[in-house]
Amino acid sequence: MIRCMVLDTGDMSSSKVHVDESDPTGYEEPPFESRDVQLRKGKLITDEYDIIDGLLGKGKFGKVQKCKEHKTGRLLAVKFIKIHDSQMKKDVLNEIEIMKCLQHPRLLQLYDAFEGKDNVCLVLELITGGELFERVINDDFILTERASVMFLRQICEGMEFMHSKNILHLDLKPENILCLTRQGNRIKIIDFGLARKYDPKGDLRVLFGTPEFMAPEVVNFDTVSPATDMWSIGIICYLLLSGLSPFMGHNHDDTLVNVTCAVWDFNAEEFESVSSEAKDFISSLLIKNPVLRMSAKECLEHKWLRKSKKREGNLLDRSLSKKRLRKFVYRRKWQKAVNAMLALKRMGVQLS
Ligand code: ADP
Repeated sequence: MIRCMVLDTGDMSSSKVHVDESDPTGYEEPPFESRDVQLRKGKLITDEYDIIDGLLGKGKFGKVQKCKEHKTGRLLAVKFIKIHDSQMKKDVLNEIEIMKCLQHPRLLQLYDAFEGKDNVCLVLELITGGELFERVINDDFILTERASVMFLRQICEGMEFMHSKNILHLDLKPENILCLTRQGNRIKIIDFGLARKYDPKGDLRVLFGTPEFMAPEVVNFDTVSPATDMWSIGIICYLLLSGLSPFMGHNHDDTLVNVTCAVWDFNAEEFESVSSEAKDFISSLLIKNPVLRMSAKECLEHKWLRKSKKREGNLLDRSLSKKRLRKFVYRRKWQKAVNAMLALKRMGVQLS
């Protein structure tokens, strides 16, 4: 369904707001046929691809740019990862192996991979819609619960697939959810740099992630499981509906203490207009004991996400306030810029 609303902005050329809230249904053409990607050594990426000027994004380990394959003219993205040590190399090889197992419309697809002297280039499906949260805070996007349901359902579909392959993402956060195109409503989960294979009988523990989105078992260095990703989905949902980050403290240490206490509520006025179904969905994820959290499959069957059911229409269509969400997005951008500067300083780059 495409809803069209007219806002009283005074400028009629920009006053129509279109929000496509239809569910992604039916067969979705993959961006390319499935490929058995092998890391190619002794070959330059520029032998086969033109790198196009301009940044698509910047991550912890390098930059992402657009590129074009000579042979097919296909537009793709390339992620350049600087390799500093053998552990980093192992991590990138892990990322490649994991991405090869993840052929699903909600998950970013790997196309090719090259190994240089001190870097690895991952050629990826190109995503042109930008980060989901940046998209929804735009004035031309009306954020409703119905739209949030549509996004959350897709995130859970991606996670259901990953977990069915016994792979954990372990770094789910708003920056890792992109919109496939500028206008459409399809999303893609990206960045499998911290993803891990998971043995249900094993005892996998990790100590990484982004404090605001980390589950208590990560902070406590306990065993992680698919439920660890589900906690992060609970936080993303809480944020999308209110713009509030439930465990954020004055600094990282405060945040981590708040996460381990796992005490949170819906007392903020932003939740006054949120449906009880949405609150039940979040409450079934932000549970300290991972065993009690909903799985991705259970999420998809939850009354808030379930498809083709008559709902409390008006409530789901009411537009949500984006004031807090805007603040959250700007704060994250600021933090990222500061982190990038600190990283440059650590590398000995003189900053003026
Ligand atoms: P890192 O693992 O180094 O943190 P990411 O994989 O998160 O890097 O990528 C960094 C940023 O680059 C993302 O936040 C996103 O904005 C952009 N990006 C990554 N992959 C793509 C892609 N395939 N298409 C378009 N933009 C991308």
